Amino acid sequence: MDMMTAVSPSAPTSLMPDALSFENRPSLIGLTREELAEALVEKGVPQRQAKMRVQQVWHWLYIRGISDFDHMLNVSKDLRQLLKTHFTIARPEIVEEQISNDGTRKWLLRFPPRGAGRPVEVETVYIPEEGRGTLCISSQVGCSLTCDFCHTGTQRLVRNLTSEEIISQLLLARDRLGDFPDREAPQGAIVPAEGRKVTNVVMMGMGEPLYNFENVKRALLVASDGDGLSLSKRRITLSTSGVVPEIYRTGAETGVMLAISLHATNDELRDKLVPINKKYPLKELMEACRAYPGLSNARRITFEYVMLKGVNDSLADAKNLIKLLKGVPAKINLIPFNPWPGSKYECSDWETIEAFADFINQAGYASPIRTPRGRDILAACGQLKSESERMRKTERLAFEAMMIANHGEDD
Ligand code: SAH
Ligand code: SF4
Repeated sequence: MDMMTAVSPSAPTSLMPDALSFENRPSLIGLTREELAEALVEKGVPQRQAKMRVQQVWHWLYIRGISDFDHMLNVSKDLRQLLKTHFTIARPEIVEEQISNDGTRKWLLRFPPRGAGRPVEVETVYIPEEGRGTLCISSQVGCSLTCDFCHTGTQRLVRNLTSEEIISQLLLARDRLGDFPDREAPQGAIVPAEGRKVTNVVMMGMGEPLYNFENVKRALLVASDGDGLSLSKRRITLSTSGVVPEIYRTGAETGVMLAISLHATNDELRDKLVPINKKYPLKELMEACRAYPGLSNARRITFEYVMLKGVNDSLADAKNLIKLLKGVPAKINLIPFNPWPGSKYECSDWETIEAFADFINQAGYASPIRTPRGRDILAACGQLKSESERMRKTERLAFEAMMIANHGEDD
């Protein structure tokens, strides 16, 4: 809680001066360097200055983390005025910020329509752990897929997020966590500083990132740009339900780490749990995994496996899993099923999960059981769902009370 007041971007007036009045202007956030140069030149920046201006703007946006053109100190007043007239660099509006008992934070963010349609809302989750902090970013509002156990899957797809909206989730989280320590550093200081709060990014929020490939790719390339946000590609993981053609593209065009929502080891069950399997069955999926570039023991694919009581959690399933993954450098992430109002599955018993994990371990695979984080604020895997269809407050409070009663405060 202290942090909230210490960081205090809740003072939207100083950090987001143009959030309302400028809401329809195009944003400079999330563009590639080439697109940024084009945008500046189109509005009157001389071509011969373009490279230098891009360098400056990039530095202020992604190293200093500013969201007000007036804070671009080494940019002339005239140019700042020009930028303000045509563009915005404002953050999304924070509709709600929740902090779980375990320190997990969830933000409900509202993005302005930028000229067309309605504003959209998405959820972003920050999970602090010993020595690292993971930000779980959304790629779509809702999801067009309908995995049987996933809350997001019950919300129809509203639309893809733009690369601005994807990157803004990272910028906003770093604002709120005080994770732009270089914002106030004197000009010319060597940045970025050590000790980031957001050390890892996972594309595991709402939506199927590979159904929004272009925007996700552009955002991840901005996030991993060495002169900006500088996240190592080894610390960025994209999770997909298995959009096979775009898995090849992800490997070739982004180089980030891959996670596959596997959840079943035969086509019959996977067709039901993860319906995209009907289009891209296990054989094709595993071929794409085997072909993923740069795999080694140190660079493995994560296979996510949700533990559903009596559905996919037997030792025979564990055995099949080992068979299926043969030859792929893999780690298996066992996810205890997170219930949501109306869900028809139950989480496997703890002993069953442990026995499953032991079996896989003995076969030589790392198989961490993912501790459910932020369940009390519906921030855990598969629980995200945004405003357009969120629970009524009374309904949510009742559900939260039920979760705490069932799982204890520290679950
Ligand atoms: N759409 C992408 C990424 C987001 S989901 C994908 O499916 O991979 C992140 C992970 O949470 C996925 O592995 C998903 O299958 C899993 N998940 C979904 N609902 C869940 C639930 N209720 N409990 C536990 N995990 C769930
Ligand atoms: Fe969409 Fe992933 Fe949920 Fe499936 S698990 S419905 S792909 S968000």
